[in-house]
Amino acid sequence: MRPFVLEQPANIPAAVALASNFAAPDRPPTQSDMQFIAGGTNLADYMKLDVAQPSRLLDLNRLSEPALRQIRVTAEGVRFGALVRMGEAADDKDVRLYYPVIADSLRLAASGQLRNMASLAGNVLQRTRCEYFREISWACNKRQPGSGCAAMDGFNRQHAVLGVSDACIATYHGDFAQALIALDANLHVEGSRGAREIRFADLHRLPGDTPHVETGLAADEIITAIDVPAGPWTRRSRYLKVRDRESYAFALASAAVALDLDGNNVREARIALGGVATVPWRAREAEAVLHGKILDEATARAAAETAFADARPRDHNAFKIELGKRTLVRALLETRDMKV
Ligand code: SF4
Repeated sequence: MRPFVLEQPANIPAAVALASNFAAPDRPPTQSDMQFIAGGTNLADYMKLDVAQPSRLLDLNRLSEPALRQIRVTAEGVRFGALVRMGEAADDKDVRLYYPVIADSLRLAASGQLRNMASLAGNVLQRTRCEYFREISWACNKRQPGSGCAAMDGFNRQHAVLGVSDACIATYHGDFAQALIALDANLHVEGSRGAREIRFADLHRLPGDTPHVETGLAADEIITAIDVPAGPWTRRSRYLKVRDRESYAFALASAAVALDLDGNNVREARIALGGVATVPWRAREAEAVLHGKILDEATARAAAETAFADARPRDHNAFKIELGKRTLVRALLETRDMKV
C-alpha cells in the first residue's frame, strides 16, 4: 500500500472545507487524489491492490453530528444517517417490519464482520468487483480511461447483461442499492457548493463511454443521509438473491420487489434487479406489465420477459438472462404470498 495522509475532521463543515481544498474538481470522485473513507471495507482493499491510489484520505468516522449515526422511522418514511452501519440497519426492528426489502438486502449483502464495519453511504458507493478491474495488469477503462476492457472477450461469467456499453460491462455488485432504487429513495448531500437532495436513481451513471465516472457526485461531496418514503408497498416487500454459494457471495441475479395489492390484483409494483446490470436497475417496464393485473405465474413471467428484453450477453454470461427472469418470477410470487 502506498503512503497517504489521514485527515480526521470533527464535523461536516470541517470535512467539506478539507475536501474542497484537496479534492480535484476536474476529476470524478473515484479518481481524485483525496478520497473519503468510513468503514473502508471496499477502499482499503483497492488501495492494497493498487487499484485506488489516493494520497489523502478523509476519515468520516469522527464527524460529530448525531444524525449521521441514527435511524429514524416515522409515518413519512425512514431516514438513515450516512454512517449507520449495515448491520445496525439490518437488525433494526422497525426496518425489518416496515421495510423488509431493505433489511433483507443488507442481511444478505456480506459477512457479519463486513456488515458491522461498512457504512450505508459507503455501501451504495462501493465499486465493482470485476476481476479485470481488481488486477492492475489488465486493461480496464474504468480504472484507466481509454486503456480498453479485458472483460469484453475474457471470462465474463460475473458480468452484466443490462446497461452495458462497448467500453464496460462491469456489474454493480451491491444489494442495498436495489432496495433503495425500488423504493424511490433520496440522498442528502453536502459539498462546497452547499447542500442538495438527489434522487437515488440519479446517483449511479451508466458506463457509456466514460465508465470511470461512476456517480453524479462531485469529488468534495459527502452523502449525509438516505431517505426512503413510506408507501403502501413497503411492508409487502422482499429481496431475493441468487449466488454461487449461500454463505457469502455477490449476486448472480437478485430482485428487490415491493407490491401494493388488492387481493392478488396489482395496484402498484416496484421492481429492481441486481447482479445483472452495470448500475442499480429499476425495471419500470416490467412494473407497467403488472399494473392492474392479477399477479400469477403467467403475469410474473411476462414482467420478467419485459425486464430482460434489452439484455446483451457476452460469451460466458448468457445464463444470467434466464436466471434473472426466474429470480424475478420467484421474488414476485413470494412477495405476493407474504403475510403482512
Ligand atoms: Fe474494466 Fe469495466 Fe472492462 Fe471490467 S468490464 S475490465 S471494470 S472496463
